[in-house]
Amino acid sequence: MEDFRLAVNNAVRVGLQARVTSRNALNKLVYKDFRCNHPGMYAQHLVSAFEVAASVMKTYRKRIRAKAEPRTPYVKRLMMKTENQAYKLDRDSGIIDLPIRAGCHVKLKLVVSQYHRRYLDDPTLSLGSLTVLPDRVIVAFRKETPKLYAPESIISLDTNEGSLDGVCLQGNSSTVVKASFPEVAAIQRRHHDRRKKIQKKKAHDRRTSRTLCRREGMREHHRIDHRMHQVANTVLSFAEKHKSAIVLEEFRGMRYKKSKDKDLNRRLSLWPRRKLHQFIEYKAAWTGIPVVKVDPRYSSKKCPICGRIQDSRMCTLFECECGWCQDRHINASINLLQTAISKGLEVAGGLRFDPGAFQHDVMMILYDPVRGARSEPNGTRRVRAVT
Ligand SMILES: [Zn+2]
Repeated sequence: MEDFRLAVNNAVRVGLQARVTSRNALNKLVYKDFRCNHPGMYAQHLVSAFEVAASVMKTYRKRIRAKAEPRTPYVKRLMMKTENQAYKLDRDSGIIDLPIRAGCHVKLKLVVSQYHRRYLDDPTLSLGSLTVLPDRVIVAFRKETPKLYAPESIISLDTNEGSLDGVCLQGNSSTVVKASFPEVAAIQRRHHDRRKKIQKKKAHDRRTSRTLCRREGMREHHRIDHRMHQVANTVLSFAEKHKSAIVLEEFRGMRYKKSKDKDLNRRLSLWPRRKLHQFIEYKAAWTGIPVVKVDPRYSSKKCPICGRIQDSRMCTLFECECGWCQDRHINASINLLQTAISKGLEVAGGLRFDPGAFQHDVMMILYDPVRGARSEPNGTRRVRAVT
């Protein structure tokens, strides 16, 4: 790993001097020199080192373009990465055979859990790159993207701070669906407060403060990811069962006007809606569920029946002069749905959104945190000692 890191950092240095940035160009330029300088190294690994170097430089150039002033890049962490031609993995025993130099191989035994088994035993998955870190090994898998099915229904979802709200449209009937995750905001709030407290308490010791804050951050990250994964999984399994397409709003370019309320600004910027969408999208691609993203413009202000655009945001209820009255979030999701259909999303058997047949009272709960999340100690409860 040290050799690999050295090779990467050398390649970065040479690449920056010569203004060469692509992996292939690096390969042409320095391969011969590097063969002499790193005589022991397996040739395939050198090429991988160039690839890592190229990606390091790419980030560096991005930072320069963003007008940040980055330090000269180098790889600090011990690591090594190889492509799938350069190592062997025995899928039954979980033993990785990694050549280091001529006649010298390293064997790594993976600790294989049931979760890992699922991927190792799946013959449709082929091996991708291998990353070796001091404490773990990352094996990437490749999968041919499955064919998207022809949808028979549509779920359109409006993403809100504590929930995904939407409608599921199937034939002529439409149902309100909801997946709520109110704890996400609460978790962020709690961890934010805790970090503030640590910073105050450890103001005299910045190193400790930083370490503790980082640990808080990691924990927050894990807890939120866990919930987002669960929400995405339940939504997708519902979609798969009903053979539905999923409609989401496109976030790109959406900015919030800074409000005077600092707390609201923070909440909006931290709100992991993009992450949730990413989870939904990649998981959908993995199983072949079609996902459509539409421009959310006016989705919260438009009346889906008469098309009138209200000038101000409504409170919890969206009311229109034509008599249409609906929950604000549901209304937004109906607008998303209509945009998607007008953009050419087709469904087997045809669909018609009939406001008369809209079932106001029936709500299908896709995800409910009480059922979904495992209980976890929140760390704030204190056990009082009984004397
Ligand atoms: Zn109207």
